Amino acid sequence: MRLIPLIGALAALTFTATATAQQIDSVEVRDPIHMLTGKGGNIGVLIGEDGTFMIDDKFAPLTEAILAEVEQLGGSAPTFLINTHFHGDHTGGNENLGDAGSTIVAHEKVRERLAEGSEIEAFDMVMPPQSGAALPVITFSQDIRFHLNGETIDVFHVPAAHTDSDSIVHFRDANVIHTGDTVFNGFFPFIDTAHGGTLEGMIAATERVLTLTDDDTRIIPGHGPLADRQQIQGYRDMLTTARERLGKLKAEGLSAEEAAAEQPLADLEEEWGDGNFSADQWIEIIYDGV
Ligand SMILES: [Zn+2]
Repeated sequence: MRLIPLIGALAALTFTATATAQQIDSVEVRDPIHMLTGKGGNIGVLIGEDGTFMIDDKFAPLTEAILAEVEQLGGSAPTFLINTHFHGDHTGGNENLGDAGSTIVAHEKVRERLAEGSEIEAFDMVMPPQSGAALPVITFSQDIRFHLNGETIDVFHVPAAHTDSDSIVHFRDANVIHTGDTVFNGFFPFIDTAHGGTLEGMIAATERVLTLTDDDTRIIPGHGPLADRQQIQGYRDMLTTARERLGKLKAEGLSAEEAAAEQPLADLEEEWGDGNFSADQWIEIIYDGV
């Protein structure tokens, strides 16, 4: 792949020294579930008498600020911590929280990829091999169900989507979903094709989210603002259009660069191209996974 400058993407997905000063803010999703924003992937947190249940943990230097925000909301260090996938902007706090006594739960591929270490070429991002408290201690291959704080929470794997390690979290009673990075709300999503991600799998994961939602569902995306069902439908439609057009160009034998030069997603750029990737960049990032 041609090396392309991804300044916006870098800011969103990697941690820079300047970000240590960044605050963690919280948004009420539906009591007692909150979304924590700030650098890195969105955190979901359920707080109650049975303990704190948290989804993802951003970057290690933010753990203190995250725990301070959770405390403000009446919680404490998570009893359970879910990793939606292995990327460092969602698992960077694992070691800190593992040391603080959290039980980390994830799809088996998350543990495998964290233990192996990984490199994301597109962002020049290297994750060294992790061990000990940084690794999930409970892993699953399909799904797992939690019962705490009056909630029934399903965590289920969606294959070959943003990576090969993705899970979606469904709070059945509260009607809230955390999609992990299968949804970037409002912009072209990163698909990690070097680690098993595919456009087809992103579409399938989004379809699965839609089957679980109604007009009242509140959806925490991996990146971007809180979403409703209508926004997820728009996102699904964008992905489907991209699959159709890029699939055609790929079948004609065009390379990623040649496909991008055809400007097949020019009409989608205004709505989806200003958060992370331009249409050209996005095509080159995901083309292997089309
Ligand atoms: Zn990710």
